[in-house]
Order: sequence, then C-alpha cells, then structure tokens
Amino acid sequence: MKNILQNSERPILITGPCSAESRDQLFQTAKQLKESGSVDLFRAGVWKPRTRPDSFEGVGKDGLIWLREIKTALSIPVAVEVANASHVNDALKFGVDVLWIGARTSANPFAMQEIADSLAGVDTVVLIKNPMSPDLELWTGAIERVMRAGVLQVAAIHRGFYTFGKSTYRNPPLWQIPIDLKKRFSNLPLICDPSHMGGSSLFLKELSQKAMDLNYDGLMIESHIDPSSALSDKQQQITPVELRSLIDGLVLRDKEAVTQNGVLGELRTFIDLCDDQLLDVLEKRMELARKIGTYKKENNLTILQNSRWDEIINRVITKGEQRGISPGCVHEVFRSIHQESINHQNNVMNSH
Ligand code: PEP
Ligand code: MN
Repeated sequence: MKNILQNSERPILITGPCSAESRDQLFQTAKQLKESGSVDLFRAGVWKPRTRPDSFEGVGKDGLIWLREIKTALSIPVAVEVANASHVNDALKFGVDVLWIGARTSANPFAMQEIADSLAGVDTVVLIKNPMSPDLELWTGAIERVMRAGVLQVAAIHRGFYTFGKSTYRNPPLWQIPIDLKKRFSNLPLICDPSHMGGSSLFLKELSQKAMDLNYDGLMIESHIDPSSALSDKQQQITPVELRSLIDGLVLRDKEAVTQNGVLGELRTFIDLCDDQLLDVLEKRMELARKIGTYKKENNLTILQNSRWDEIINRVITKGEQRGISPGCVHEVFRSIHQESINHQNNVMNSH
C-alpha cells in the first residue's frame, strides 16, 4: 500500500462529509473537493456512533458502494470509521483504503482488541482518534493494540476531549495530551480534527492554524455540499468552496524553524495554553457573577458584601502561598478579578 501519510507537503488533507447520506451528496462533495485540490483522502462515515438513539445512524453498506465508485471515478483514496470487526471486514471487502477509529471506540479496550485482531496481517492504514476522555494511557493503548497487530501505517487524530459543563469548544483540545503522545511515538503522524473539536464552523480557522503552528502533519475537516441540510454535525461542516479558502488562509511556518525553535517554542506554546485556560476560567467566573447579580436583584440584596470579599481574599492568599505565589501578586490579581465580577453583577442589577 502506498504510504499516504507520508507527505512532504503539509498539511495532509482528510476531508469529506460527516456522513454519507446519498449517492448524489457524496459524489457532489467529492467532486468539488477534488476539483479545488482540497483532498488527499476522502472521508465519510457510513456507520454513525450516535450518543442518543433515533438519530441518523448511517447508510451502512450502500455508502461503501458509493465510496468505491468515487475512489475509481475520481482517483482518490477513501476512508470510513470502523467500530468493530464486522465493519473492518466490510470496509476492506469494498476496497476502503483507510480505516479510522472514532473517539467512542478508542475509549474501549475490548472493541480496540477486537478491531486489532481483525486487522492482523492486513496491509491497510489506520487512524486512531483520541478517546472522549482526556486519558493519554487509553489513547496510547489503542494505538499499541493496532501497531501490535502488524499495521504499518498508523496515525493519531486529535479531536479534543469531552468536558463537563459549558466550554467554548465542543471538545476542548487540551493540546498538552497530543504533544505528550508525540513524545511516546516519535514517528507517529499527528492529524488535527478541528471540526469535532470546535463543534462549529466558526472555530475551524483558529484551530487549524494552531495545529499548523504546533507542527501537526495534517487536518481532518468535515465538508458537505450543503451543510444546512446535513443529517449529522450540521453546525461544523463547511462547503468545499469554504474549505478551500480556509486552507489558503493558513500560514504554514517553516517546519525546520518550528523544530529549531524547539524547547523555547514548546514552552511558549504551553504558556499560551495556560493563558487560554485562565481566560476560560475567568469567563466562567463572570458568568457566575451575573447569575449572582440576578439572584441579588430578585431578592433585593446589595452588591458588595464586605465579609464575602474578606473570605475570598484570605482563602486565595493562603492557597497561593502553598503554591509559591506571593501574597502581593494574589492580592492584586484577585482585587482586579473581583472588581470585574462586581461590574458584571452591576450590569445585571441595573438592567431592566
Ligand atoms: C466523525 O468523524 O464523524 C466522528 C463521529 O468523530 P468522533 O469519533 O471524533 O466523534
Ligand atoms: Mn462528524
């Protein structure tokens, strides 16, 4: 099998709809992607793992027939998601070039072992998405099982992790985890899936750029001929034309420079990640402040309750000292955060 993961041109583009829906939808999408040079590997889910029953669960083998036609008619390799041994057998029977394992499956060692056993001695390419939970060991284990089955072309897809509660991205990236994974498997290509990470077409650009800055090998981006009519993941899909302009807008930093930048670059990346996390937490804190504002307004309470401020500042100064952060810094930072919270409460209380 030709090595489709080895590509001197970055990024490798894995694009196509979330799901195969009809022959026409699949063909039109593939044709436009091919014509605009936005596809190295065409993806489409034919068996869809859905969180709740009664959602669209995929077209099954019909999709494999359409993909086989597309592969021949347009000369592009094709990929589907597999979740068990029978999917693997069907996909291989229909000439699917690349198999990917989804986030719900890579989280399950039984399913992973079943898939690995069905792949023994097969010359194919397998892409393994990170499991839903931010667990480096589980992701590593899934990759090891497939590698031990003798599959030579393996890559990891980073699609972000489920977190409890509200977050900007549907599946926050937690970039440290894939960076740590790379340290374990130095030759493992790493592909970013900003579609499932962001959960919205609005975030595709910033997430794709981040992946390029972190030297990822490729992108898996969902593209649909008519996203508004998509049967799954509607909000995050973009048309082939939009995809082309997204790719053209990416700044590809010199790979050598990124590597040479080495330690310092990586440390700076982590600083940026910490700052992003600080901002996420601040956003959540202001949201809580507004909720408190609503409560106080409804119950006729005053905004500033001095005893509460004393309680907050004493608590964080003690905790800060345990972490080696000076009381002066903690005081200054929290005074400012508290003031901002009061402003948010104020706005709520004075709104009509
Ligand atoms: C998909 O790629 O359409 C998919 C279901 O992804 P994930 O496993 O990342 O949720
Ligand atoms: Mn999807």
